[in-house]
Amino acid sequence: MNIREKILIIEDEKSIAQFISAVLSGQGYETIQARTAKEGLSMLASHCPDLVILDLGLPDMDGMDILRQLRSWSSLPVVVVSARSHERDKVAALDQGADDYLTKPFGTGELLARVRTAIRHTRTASSNDGVARQGIYTVGELSIDFNKHQALVRGENVKLTLSEFRIVALLARHAGKVLTYDFIIKELWGPRAGSGNQILRVNMANIRRKIEKNPAEPEYFFTEVGVGYRLAEGDS
Ligand code: CA
Repeated sequence: MNIREKILIIEDEKSIAQFISAVLSGQGYETIQARTAKEGLSMLASHCPDLVILDLGLPDMDGMDILRQLRSWSSLPVVVVSARSHERDKVAALDQGADDYLTKPFGTGELLARVRTAIRHTRTASSNDGVARQGIYTVGELSIDFNKHQALVRGENVKLTLSEFRIVALLARHAGKVLTYDFIIKELWGPRAGSGNQILRVNMANIRRKIEKNPAEPEYFFTEVGVGYRLAEGDS
């Protein structure tokens, strides 16, 4: 199997676009570039990319507007790259349907990891392969068995409450990706749940206490301050 993903880079700064393109090409991805939002939208429709790298600060339109337009007709993975480092900007982009968010400047390793994760999720969703089929997610010494509703550390069953397990399972289904507080709360407790994340924080503290060797320096459950949580991605 040798699928070569096509990645559209929508970025007005030529040097950054060239850098991203060189990094991705070096890993065997095919890349195309758009310098404006208008060009990006037209290439989205005409070139059918597999993934989009989207800058938010574009000369003719805000990247968030591209994201909104795209999400009205497509679930194509989008990794936002932006100089905007405010938590509210990340939350807004993720809630608007971005798959991931990278703050400039970022390293090559980070960029490639986010791209791989976003592509893997699409493949998993479309082929019902890997994680979903086996029903078990493993990262390091942690395994999550979706069918048996169990979390195991070094083969030992961890006693989680139902809420704790549901949070763990949700993060595992989206491993490697930041889920916003709001998204997790709505998935767990329904669309009418309040937006306060106190209950979620308490649950996460309990999850870490039960699973992490050192809850203050987690190996598995990471906090993106002011944004949400991310579960470390497995090796497979
Ligand atoms: Ca820009």
